[in-house]
Amino acid sequence: MRESCQIPEQQEASRRVYVETYGCQMNLADTQLLLGQFRRHGYQPVDDPALADVILLNTCAIREHAEERVIGRLGDLYRFKVQRPELQLGIVGCMAQHVRDRLLERLPFVDFVVGPDAYRRLPQVLQESGAHPYIDVRLDRSETYADLEPHREAGVRAWVTIMRGCNKFCTFCVVPFVRGRERSVPARVILDQVRQLVEQGFREVVYLGQTVNAYHDGAVDFATLLRETNDIPGLLRIRFTSPHPADMTEATIEAIATCAKVCPQVHLPVQSGSDRVLQRMARGYTVEDFLRLVEKLRRARPEMALSTDVIVGFPGETERDFEATLGLLREVKFDQAFMFHYSARSGTKAARWPETVSPEEKQRRLREVIDLQEAIAFERNQDWVGREVEVLVEGAARKKAGWLAGKTPQFKTCIFPAARPPAVGSLVTVSVRQANSHTLFGELST
Ligand code: SF4
Repeated sequence: MRESCQIPEQQEASRRVYVETYGCQMNLADTQLLLGQFRRHGYQPVDDPALADVILLNTCAIREHAEERVIGRLGDLYRFKVQRPELQLGIVGCMAQHVRDRLLERLPFVDFVVGPDAYRRLPQVLQESGAHPYIDVRLDRSETYADLEPHREAGVRAWVTIMRGCNKFCTFCVVPFVRGRERSVPARVILDQVRQLVEQGFREVVYLGQTVNAYHDGAVDFATLLRETNDIPGLLRIRFTSPHPADMTEATIEAIATCAKVCPQVHLPVQSGSDRVLQRMARGYTVEDFLRLVEKLRRARPEMALSTDVIVGFPGETERDFEATLGLLREVKFDQAFMFHYSARSGTKAARWPETVSPEEKQRRLREVIDLQEAIAFERNQDWVGREVEVLVEGAARKKAGWLAGKTPQFKTCIFPAARPPAVGSLVTVSVRQANSHTLFGELST
């Protein structure tokens, strides 16, 4: 994924920075943070690496093959450094933190390797440092970047990081090792930021955190933050991702039930439908706990859309465990799911366990779970056909010329033809005529 950047016309660029972003929404938000920090130090963001004085890849260590992809891309970008040896080329983010030594061994021309807690000083260090390569992958238990303003392109939806890190240590996950422990941005800082975003024209905020509902700044918890955000005039919608099922308190469910701007949409990662596997994953809940939570959320907001994450082929997962996952998907009927087969991440507990599911069997399980979920998502979306939905208009539809696209409160993409296009950022009512498993197709209601 690439963050699009423009050079502001009013200023002559002194130094120029180009960023490529890989991985999750947290990383995209970190790129905005980095660009904000580089701009404060006189750099101009550019869209073309050929124009840059500094090129950085904001990396992810969560997904399989990420490392090879980043190494391949750095090899590709090296040609600019051959042409202009003064160019500074480096890696930031989770992968920088996780596999620093391996990266430097394979890519000796890299100028800097910087982990997610060391962005604050990066632009300054690149201007001053004689050290080569410059390495800073220390974790900082208190760094929240609360005082740094991210650089955002104008738009409808703003992503706001409210907490960083994770204390859960699920046995398959590197996040606690690469992003450190939980810490939260003070609520007053977040609320001020949201007010400013509304003034800048944003209509929706998405609160981000690795375990976003564990948010607590010492005085304000997640439920209170939702309520206070709900009171901000001009803001239309509030979302958050990703909550952890074990951190979903009654107070948060109550806030979801009663705050009109909080969208009826929750991403609730379940990972497996087998208690045995959940326990080995150290997820901190049982299938029964999870189902009870689903029931509470649907009672809180009857039109609630739920999405989830699923891992198949975890070490020790039997056919029976896998069947239990299929059973859970059939029972809950998630609107959407992000499904993966297990692959070991070095440094995690599960990486020390023998892999018991063959690659072929993992692929089979993944195919089966994807096919099932596609059918469920299709079925869920048919429930919207013939109904009217409220859509926050985001812009032109990607695949249909002359159509507009936006999201419903359930975060479903809805597209519709528009002879007289409503303004981007406006709320419109659309009659849904058709649906597939990913998109609702409709017409503007008169
Ligand atoms: S809750 Fe588990 S899966 Fe999520 S970031 Fe923390 S350790 Fe990783």
